[in-house]
Amino acid sequence: MPKPIIDYEKCTVSKTCVEVCPMEVFEVKGEEKVVVEKPEECIGCKACEVQCPEGAITVKD
Ligand code: SF4
Repeated sequence: MPKPIIDYEKCTVSKTCVEVCPMEVFEVKGEEKVVVEKPEECIGCKACEVQCPEGAITVKD
């Protein structure tokens, strides 16, 4: 099962992953944090990993 991991040392909350994920895996919590809300929905397309401007997401296969 693919699973996205956010590196919070790199994340600047651009919310790019929230916008590009076709499965709505990510969710914005409050104003300061993006979380992997529904990892079970991930289809491993890697759009989040490729498009994150900070390189903060790794999708584990
Ligand atoms: S790999 Fe694709 S489906 Fe999985 S979290 Fe990233 S954008 Fe969403």
